Amino acid sequence: MLHNATGWWIEEAGAPEALAPLDGRAEADVAIVGGGYLGMWTAWHLLQRAPDTEIVLLERERCGFGPSGRNGGFVNGYWGYVPELAQRFGLEPAARLAREADASIHAIGEFCRSEKVDAWYRAAPEVTIATSPAQDGAWREQVAGLQALGFGDEEVELSPEQVQAICRSPLFRGASMQRTAATVQPARLAFGLRAALLRRGVRIHEGTAVERVEQHGSHVELRTPAGRLRARSAVLAVNWRTTRWPAFARELGVASSHIVLTEPVPEVLAELGWSGHQGLADHRRLLHYLRTTKDGRIAFGWGGGRMAHGARHDAHLDVDTEVVSQIGRTLRRFFPQLESREITHAWGGPIDVAPRRLPIYRSSGGVHAGWGFTGHGVGPCHLGGRILSGLALGERDEVTTLPLVSPAVRHFPAEPARHAGGSLIRRALIRRDEQDADGEPAGPVVAAVTALPKLLGMNLPR
Ligand SMILES: Cc1cc2nc3c(=O)[nH]c(=O)nc-3n(C[C@H](O)[C@H](O)[C@H](O)COP(=O)(O)OP(=O)(O)OC[C@H]3O[C@@H](n4cnc5c(N)ncnc54)[C@H](O)[C@@H]3O)c2cc1C
Repeated sequence: MLHNATGWWIEEAGAPEALAPLDGRAEADVAIVGGGYLGMWTAWHLLQRAPDTEIVLLERERCGFGPSGRNGGFVNGYWGYVPELAQRFGLEPAARLAREADASIHAIGEFCRSEKVDAWYRAAPEVTIATSPAQDGAWREQVAGLQALGFGDEEVELSPEQVQAICRSPLFRGASMQRTAATVQPARLAFGLRAALLRRGVRIHEGTAVERVEQHGSHVELRTPAGRLRARSAVLAVNWRTTRWPAFARELGVASSHIVLTEPVPEVLAELGWSGHQGLADHRRLLHYLRTTKDGRIAFGWGGGRMAHGARHDAHLDVDTEVVSQIGRTLRRFFPQLESREITHAWGGPIDVAPRRLPIYRSSGGVHAGWGFTGHGVGPCHLGGRILSGLALGERDEVTTLPLVSPAVRHFPAEPARHAGGSLIRRALIRRDEQDADGEPAGPVVAAVTALPKLLGMNLPR
């Protein structure tokens, strides 16, 4: 098994040649820091809004080598949040958010078609399945909430028989199904987006870490090891590294997610009847997610990786042998047919966790930032790029006024309490999920710790 930080998608896509670092002084209308989906979609939407905008994007490593090129490739939206958001913000903004997120799911498909990016984009509903009796009906409150608001078609319940018709696993029971979703080969999407930006004249410098962002009245100056970039405004799209910026640092925590990939097993997929390109997940508190690839493999991930200490890049965020062995064992419980089949690749990456699991967009003078996708950024970064491009140009419209922009949120505690508390809660969530799977009741300590985030007004990752 090849277990590294960057994983199979990047290898399969074939990384493009690296671009030269910034050297010396440069100027732009908008400077973008970070070449993941969020930074690159921001550049794309800036050009849609104002085609003459001069854009320089600075990426510390290679565009698409972070989580944007390593994720599960599930493209999803926000209907599941609508009942809760409708209570907090009212029905219209909540429904508008979900509709704009759906528009992004479709727009990514349209981008792939029009730009001829073969990112394996497949529109297919997403199915979230109970894999133990404790998970049965975990979706009912949400489905009923959507129905009561008139959006009953967006998420529906599936019977165990309907689930088995999608994919036969001895663990699969009933499920909920979100109708608007898709899957992609994530690295192909990231590299295709990078190529489309270069064709349109965006200047991209790779191997260029932004060390400081200074605000000087009417302009912003970005400092890198060998250069300086002056711009009217700057967009920070640096995912979990947002923790380095004091203005935003307390509004995110850093966890990790990891994926294992089987050798091609087309005959197993045929036996499972899993031919529909659906992304599947379970209803655990720390979810498993699984999908197929074009060459008949199964990619199987888990959102329960370890936490980081603030902005420190702990190696286990990317490569965690303990977590990966556990995922391999779980994969074989889902599909006993894979007992003697090879896991060829494993990888992982950091997850930027926001207090309510929804991303946050905030401006501080001429600097505009987005973070907190909490493991759900593939579709939402497209919408995020629309939002940040609007904020950078000072526009007020249907997306820059969404409830994700400048929300009131509770802060996470400062380090080291954030890491200690987050790790304690993570361990309790894992224990609770295991107890549920084994049909054991939750002990009082585990029950109390797993209830903490909600009591504090936070929704921690799934
Ligand atoms: C294993 C895994 C599975 C996932 N599965 C899914 C999924 O199936 N569906 C889903 O919706 N989401 C998923 N996610 C989450 C999703 O990948 C992210 O939400 C999304 O890619 C975030 O994009 P981004 O542009 O914000 O961040 P990134 O892709 O991390 O890009 C940020 C970029 O900023 C650069 N950078 C950082 N600091 C600096 C600096 N100082 N100067 C210059 N550049 C800098 C980094 O090098 C990086 O390239 C998953 C994540 C992981 C790790």
